[in-house]
Amino acid sequence: MPHHHRTTQQTAIQLLQRRQLRLTACRISVVHNLLEQKNAISQPELENELQDFDRVTLYRTLHTFLEKGIIHQIYDDSGVIKYALCTEHCDHDHLHQDEHVHFKCMLCKQITCVDSVSIPTIQLPQGYTFVDANFLVRGICSGCQKK
Ligand SMILES: [Zn+2]
Ligand SMILES: [Zn+2]
Ligand SMILES: [Zn+2]
Repeated sequence: MPHHHRTTQQTAIQLLQRRQLRLTACRISVVHNLLEQKNAISQPELENELQDFDRVTLYRTLHTFLEKGIIHQIYDDSGVIKYALCTEHCDHDHLHQDEHVHFKCMLCKQITCVDSVSIPTIQLPQGYTFVDANFLVRGICSGCQKK
């Protein structure tokens, strides 16, 4: 096992422990997978990469992670829901605080969290309640720019 792999594994375990989640092979693998890639991932993509776990187990794991503030959902413009890791600001006590912009590359179709760009406070008309906002910025990513 390469050294960097083991380090990511440890980070994954620590992340689960910090949220007081029982360690299961599936939970560790999903966090590990999300830590290793810088792009958001869909459930079908995860199923494809983690073939040791069945669809229901993966679904339950993602559901738990959403509740515990480990991952957040991103609505792709193609209708696919993608998932990305939250920062340590999110947990089950506080609501998700992923009020940042998501970038979708029009060439490689990858979505990344852009934590440095936050979504402005949305002033809704009277009688409306804000729940969350999804900002998808489209363009060409730096990797594709170089090609
Ligand atoms: Zn979050
Ligand atoms: Zn790209
Ligand atoms: Zn994000």
